[in-house]
Amino acid sequence: MALDNLRDLYQQVILERYKKPRNRGKSNPVDRYQKGHNPSCGDTIELTLKLSEAGDRIDEVKFEGEGCAIALASADLMADALRGKTTVEALEMVQRFQSMMRGEAEFPQDLRKLNVMQGVAQFPVRIKCANLSWHTLKAALESPQGVQPAAAISNE
Ligand code: ZN
Repeated sequence: MALDNLRDLYQQVILERYKKPRNRGKSNPVDRYQKGHNPSCGDTIELTLKLSEAGDRIDEVKFEGEGCAIALASADLMADALRGKTTVEALEMVQRFQSMMRGEAEFPQDLRKLNVMQGVAQFPVRIKCANLSWHTLKAALESPQGVQPAAAISNE
């Protein structure tokens, strides 16, 4: 497939996810909550997570928020990809995503849907938009007390 066509396809996936997200809303119950903000674009995201009984596996991720197509599509794709992953695997995925945004990595076959965000690496001003949900997820997983007060983290 020619590079231009591939880029069009990626843009289509991003726009479709933006218009028809599959993971909007709140998890039930809310085991983790974290709000994230990307001041450079104005994207805001509220992530909620349902964890397994032992607390070491992600059963469900939902998001709410306002922002550009890249920020919200990234959140929706992330939520799909995290279902059933351990919290350790999820933190590895955060690192891999951030490496991908530097053009240094991509996801293996079973997570290849996340690679549609790869093209964003070519647009430095948009990288923070794509990273926002992952950055917020990391904070949600690393907060020891579970449900946090509504203090937003910033990815600046
Ligand atoms: Zn944005």
